[in-house]
Amino acid sequence: MKISEILKNKEVTVSYEVFPPKKDMPFEPILAAVDRLCESDPDFMSVTYGAGGGTGHNTIKIADHVQNHRGVTSLAHLTCISSTRDQVDRAIGEMKACGIENILALRGDIPADFDGSKTRDYRFASDLVKEIKVKGDFCVGAACYPEGHVECEHKDDDIAFLKEKVDNGVDFLTTQMFFDNNVLYNFLYRIRERGITVPVIAGIMPVTSGKQIERICQLSGTYLPARFKAIVDKFGDKPEAMKQAGIAYATDQIIDLIANGVHGIHIYTMNKPDVAESIRNNLSYIIGK
Ligand code: FAD
Repeated sequence: MKISEILKNKEVTVSYEVFPPKKDMPFEPILAAVDRLCESDPDFMSVTYGAGGGTGHNTIKIADHVQNHRGVTSLAHLTCISSTRDQVDRAIGEMKACGIENILALRGDIPADFDGSKTRDYRFASDLVKEIKVKGDFCVGAACYPEGHVECEHKDDDIAFLKEKVDNGVDFLTTQMFFDNNVLYNFLYRIRERGITVPVIAGIMPVTSGKQIERICQLSGTYLPARFKAIVDKFGDKPEAMKQAGIAYATDQIIDLIANGVHGIHIYTMNKPDVAESIRNNLSYIIGK
């Protein structure tokens, strides 16, 4: 089913993100985690595309498994900055052959050895959005950044580029993680004002270890509110306590989002079914499942 239909038909959706095994890593432990995640009946499951496109085949394999063996709608991520048009064509063809109807179109991070002087087939995600729309009847999602994308100096420019991307055929947006809901509410106000009207799904990262948050901040520069910092300072080196606090924080964030009219919640599960299940259980009456 197309995600645009799911979003239209349900008042609140809760979906999950998983990542595929890296090249030469075993498939089975990840498949077992994915299967368990499917048991809690997410509205859809997205499967990331490894940086540089290296695990593209595994992405499609897992997205195929989720949809055709577990009966959960899948959303396959696809990046373009490190790929040629032929490679992208092939990936889209494989997705189509598996019956995958939803693709998250991404530029991908610029690789460390990137040679900017070479002509590339793609520069931005918006180029890929256009191409996917031509290649088939896909529902296309894209990424957005409530705090602004790290490479973009001015938030207004970032929103103008987002508008261009959406106008190229994006059906819904999924946000980068954020830990302060006011950041999202302000962002939604600004994009709606600029005429971006597609559904925006809030990406929620349950932080279950102190190390995880250090890495997140290094990579994305995400703002950490004082309330969240205090939790990490207090429990960051006590794994069980941090996990419990991280689940409670994510739950609290989601309840506030739903109460304030956000309809789509996407949980970055990090392939941890127990964490996703705990959050779902905490929300059982709220999301009605
Ligand atoms: P774009 O939309 O192309 O934007 C990239 C930058 O270019 C921004 O700064 C933007 O402002 C600027 N820009 C856009 N258009 C123009 C223009 N016309 N002129 C000048 N500047 C412009 N990465 C992976 O490798 N695999 C994944 O599976 C993956 N999944 C993700 C899922 C989500 C929900 C999110 C939020 C991110 C994900 N990423 C993933 C990370 C993403 O690839 C990086 O954040 C990447 O740096 C930007 O990708 P994008 O698609 O947002 O790029």
